[in-house]
Amino acid sequence: MADTARLAINLATIREQCGLAEAIPLCARMGIRAVAPWRDQVAATGLRETRRLLRDCGLEVSSLCRGGMFPAAERAERRRRIEDNRRAIEEAATLGAPCLVLVCGGLPPESRDLEGARHMVEDGIAEILDDAAAAGVRLGIEPLHPVYTADRSVIVSLAQALDICDGLGSGTPVGVVLDVYHLWWDPGLSRQIERAGDRILGFHVCDWLVPTRDLLLDRGMMGDGVIDIPRIRGLVEAQGYRGWHEVEIFSERDWWRRPPEEVIRICIERHALHC
Ligand code: ZN
Repeated sequence: MADTARLAINLATIREQCGLAEAIPLCARMGIRAVAPWRDQVAATGLRETRRLLRDCGLEVSSLCRGGMFPAAERAERRRRIEDNRRAIEEAATLGAPCLVLVCGGLPPESRDLEGARHMVEDGIAEILDDAAAAGVRLGIEPLHPVYTADRSVIVSLAQALDICDGLGSGTPVGVVLDVYHLWWDPGLSRQIERAGDRILGFHVCDWLVPTRDLLLDRGMMGDGVIDIPRIRGLVEAQGYRGWHEVEIFSERDWWRRPPEEVIRICIERHALHC
């Protein structure tokens, strides 16, 4: 049985139903203790207003989504993205988020230079390390499932994310965010989770539906798919991770169409039963 005190809601899960002014009080009313907002949601509500809502409702922030998206064809555009990541770090600090999630970015348009894009990611993260350290915000590299290599993340496995961490050196404010949706298929997962050790900064849960009708927007509720979430949770917690279990579901056809109260209620039930 999962400990519901560890449950956090990534606010993408109800993003189509409500903005933060509604979502934050709703989560608090339903007994949720932490949420993860997205930057576009924060921008729509206003940074200071978001902070006020969180404080008034007594909610913690499990993470801020998201920074990253480093690769770009033009140098000026890469600089612009690094500056945007610096703003994201400041926003995370303002909201009291311990971690900025990095979705690292895919290939630049029309590029086939995968190696080059990977180097742009490494260079981009290296550029913002000092800003993160100064702000007291950790950078969580979230490896995505390999189907997103072209358009969202050239970082596609936990091993690869940890290689980047290793390359940046110890004592840097960088770690990894593990999302079961992206990692469940990996035959080397248990070994890599052991290798991650105390560098695990976040743990995201949802489920992989069969069939999956849309690779981005058809994520399943825990218990409706094929991922053995308790096993992965056990591996993560065996490394000493005691952070949030953040439910993150993008679901155009199902969960985004339901009343947000119902979605949160079922998240709570399924987290207790299937995480
Ligand atoms: Zn995630």
